[in-house]
Amino acid sequence: MEEKIISVAIDGPAAAGKSTVAKKVAQILGFTYIDTGAMYRAVTHAVIAKGLDPKSEEQSVTLLPGMIIDLKEDGRVLCNGEDVTKVIREPLVSGNVSYIAAMKPIRLALVDMQRAMAEKKSVVMDGRDIGTYVLPNAQVKIYQIASVETRAVRRYEENLEKGINTTLKDVENDVRNRDYIDSNRAFAPLKPAPDSVLIDTSFMSVDQAVEAVLKVVHDKTGIQIPCH
Ligand code: C5P
Repeated sequence: MEEKIISVAIDGPAAAGKSTVAKKVAQILGFTYIDTGAMYRAVTHAVIAKGLDPKSEEQSVTLLPGMIIDLKEDGRVLCNGEDVTKVIREPLVSGNVSYIAAMKPIRLALVDMQRAMAEKKSVVMDGRDIGTYVLPNAQVKIYQIASVETRAVRRYEENLEKGINTTLKDVENDVRNRDYIDSNRAFAPLKPAPDSVLIDTSFMSVDQAVEAVLKVVHDKTGIQIPCH
């Protein structure tokens, strides 16, 4: 019997712990994890590295033709063959990515790539518009939130671990700013899909959040969750 392809969409505001949870859920289920935020970050880095203005759609879209973004199984992100894994987490990219992500031609190009990835295999895909726009037929849709203070502290601590130099105040401002732009853009804004399940991780550990998502996966698809 042919194996059924399943898509798990995890959306939510910045730094809500989506990627940490999505990665673990994917690992347990044997699905491929797809970090769509990394794709918008890779384009943003490419625009800045070329000396173009990330607030100018006219300038930014010139880089799209032929751009290849490769999300490796081991978590590395390659853009036109260059390893950009670390640089795309830097404050300069974080502070500009929401302008790039509001540009429709850029979204359309990246959404095509995201849909192509989910067509061939079961995925856990995290982002802002996965359940609402990229994969509207995903069997499982999660909207993962946490208070803005919790999110800022978590991201600040993550940055410290990665050696990225930020202050808690700067991280909180970045998170608020991105949420505002991402929620208010005209095309495919951040919002919960009507058929999504809300998970508030403000007072949850990573493991509790993972279990909550796995329960929804089981309830919605009937698949047995492997021992983990
Ligand atoms: O997930 P992450 O925080 O790394 O995403 C960075 C930015 O990319 C978001 O703030 C948002 O502007 C954009 N993004 C998006 N749609 C997605 C994923 C990310 O607009 N599906």
